[in-house]
Amino acid sequence: MVPKWVRGPVEQAVLQHSNGTWEELRIAALGGTIGTSFEGINAEVIEVKSFQELRALGEKAKGKIVFFNRPMERGLISTGAAYGGSVNQRGNGPIEAANVGGVAALVRSMTTRLDDVPHTGATHYVDSIKKVPAAAISTIGAERLSKLLSSGEPVRLTLRLSARSHPDVESANVVGELRGSEKPEEVIVVGGHLDSWDKGHGAHDDGAGCVQSIEALRLLKALNLKPKRTIRAVMFMNEENGLRGGTAYAEKDRPTEKHIAAIESDAGGFSPRGFGVSDSAAHSKIARWSGVLSFFGADRIQRGGGGADIGPLMQKGVVGIGLQVDGHKYFDYHHSDSDVIQNVNERELALGAAAIAILAYLIAEEGL
Ligand SMILES: [Zn+2]
Repeated sequence: MVPKWVRGPVEQAVLQHSNGTWEELRIAALGGTIGTSFEGINAEVIEVKSFQELRALGEKAKGKIVFFNRPMERGLISTGAAYGGSVNQRGNGPIEAANVGGVAALVRSMTTRLDDVPHTGATHYVDSIKKVPAAAISTIGAERLSKLLSSGEPVRLTLRLSARSHPDVESANVVGELRGSEKPEEVIVVGGHLDSWDKGHGAHDDGAGCVQSIEALRLLKALNLKPKRTIRAVMFMNEENGLRGGTAYAEKDRPTEKHIAAIESDAGGFSPRGFGVSDSAAHSKIARWSGVLSFFGADRIQRGGGGADIGPLMQKGVVGIGLQVDGHKYFDYHHSDSDVIQNVNERELALGAAAIAILAYLIAEEGL
């Protein structure tokens, strides 16, 4: 069973100027948010860059739409690290806003790009704190709003969202495998996640990981290789708003099986650079194989890695491995209307599948 949340047709933020004119800002309801009434919420906007700053405002935030505007840090080479440094605004923004009496949360989109495309993603509530609606605003909209606020004039916004949650629905992981020729009970998982946000197609996040997992198996079959251990492609369900598929896969009782590694591709279908490995002994072993990945530049084997869907397996002691890619463009597309197949390069996607096939095959032959 997985959570069901539906955006619905209305997501609107209208800015009212003091001279009576108005303009619309591009927003996207955050995944899991409650909706507003039909008329929407009309309130003054207050901008903050951090939760600390918000808490220090005290009474001043009461009754306001709280605008979280800390950008992803462009100076960081790892866009994933930049995302990690800002995404708490999206995840916990509505809780923090409600905590100080705010009536809604408006969050700067999680992207390093300056454009007018809002990026959605999961947000959270806790039972003990009032639920307030939450939306992402495009980075251009965020800059515009911030500039208006810096003039000192009060800025009022009407926020309308039709989003709502429904009862859980039945869903499933999708699994296929190449059965091991000598030790079929020993399993190497290769996987991505089948669900995506409703914006765009979910092509990079994570259609790429799904097709690469299937393609890795197809490549080995096409080459007529018969790996000693089982290689299983798993398309996990519900990574984005619940991780129920990854959790259910790890919890399922498989008394005759032993998982020895899980490889996840969930960083987009970009040119592969290597793998991150969770376990130090496995890392040393895999690093010794890096030469076979070097001819297409995918030989950077780093310590530390894994992924959300294989996280529950890793907690049970399975070695987790994440495909690492050239990630500079990932957050240009992530969770937005721009995450479409036209923005995936076929050669880069195919090389990622090849890297996964090579590593899965080596583990299947040599063990870890
Ligand atoms: Zn993903």
